[in-house]
Amino acid sequence: MICLGIESTAHTFGVGIVDANGTILSNVIRPFTTKKGGIIPGRAADHHAEICDLALGEALVAAKIKMKDVGLVAFSQGPGIGQCLQVGAFAARTLSLANKLPLVGVNHCIAHLEIGKLLTGANDPVLLYVSGTNTQVIASGEGRYRIIGETLDIGVGNFLDSFARHIGLGFPGGPRIEELAVKGTKYIDLPYVVKGMDISLGGILTNLKQKFDSGLGKEDLCFSLQETVFAMLIEVSERAMAHLGNDELLLGGGVACNSRLQEMARVMCLDRGAKLFVPADRKVLVDNGAMIAWAGLLAFKRGGALNISDSFIKPYWRTDQF
Ligand code: AMP
Ligand code: MG
Repeated sequence: MICLGIESTAHTFGVGIVDANGTILSNVIRPFTTKKGGIIPGRAADHHAEICDLALGEALVAAKIKMKDVGLVAFSQGPGIGQCLQVGAFAARTLSLANKLPLVGVNHCIAHLEIGKLLTGANDPVLLYVSGTNTQVIASGEGRYRIIGETLDIGVGNFLDSFARHIGLGFPGGPRIEELAVKGTKYIDLPYVVKGMDISLGGILTNLKQKFDSGLGKEDLCFSLQETVFAMLIEVSERAMAHLGNDELLLGGGVACNSRLQEMARVMCLDRGAKLFVPADRKVLVDNGAMIAWAGLLAFKRGGALNISDSFIKPYWRTDQF
């Protein structure tokens, strides 16, 4: 069975097509970006509505199939930005009804975990999921997914994007911060906020903004930001692995594209004799439709189709409610 998956939880509209063996036939990603300023939910949703038809067509052409070859439609049901989620859900319902295809709703965070497992061969890893809105350490246990640790306020991607916006970079800011960080030479002390298994980023963001406004250099601040915040993420991941006796770490989410974060994770795993798994293709790390299609195939096998009347979006859907 071939599944077509639609992603639209935040700034990215994606259409991915995956077969039952987990072969990705296509993965079209159309992100909403800005040169200045951040993501405005209404504008991002308008962007998704504008390009959804185009993205669908491109995905079918790239997969060398027609809509009649598709057997299942999956969509990101949550968590995410309501306005953006609505566009994907509406597109998926329409495709399902017009083509008489079963529909499944997918938990976006779990899709990151499942595509990572599929592509890296990780068996039952701890997932450090670091994306725009979400920052969670996830592991399975007793037949469900558990959030072992998470951010108490903003996601690390949003944190990076907010600081980037403050210092005049566009959206998304994570990749620009990574470029500047390489040029930093001096470590500037920042708050380090780990509370048990959780982290908090709001105070560090305020502190960084104040330091920038007082004249400290962008490069050193970006360097220090990465060293501090990534160390916090690696600390809670390591503690999760130690408590669970789990020797596999998987990275997922857009921030996992960052080379310094990957390097820190590699060093930590090496130190404790654990294995690090990072999907080689950045297109499956960021938000994308292929991961929704694959998680959709798994969800369909497990629980069957979703009624249209139950296909409402779930902006606050928690990973551990799955
Ligand atoms: P996602 O929501 O999973 O698509 O991830 C989007 C987030 O990833 C945005 O906040 C980006 O700023 C961030 N991001 C993308 N590439 C990088 C990078 N190389 N370093 C840090 N953050 C990144
Ligand atoms: Mg994501």
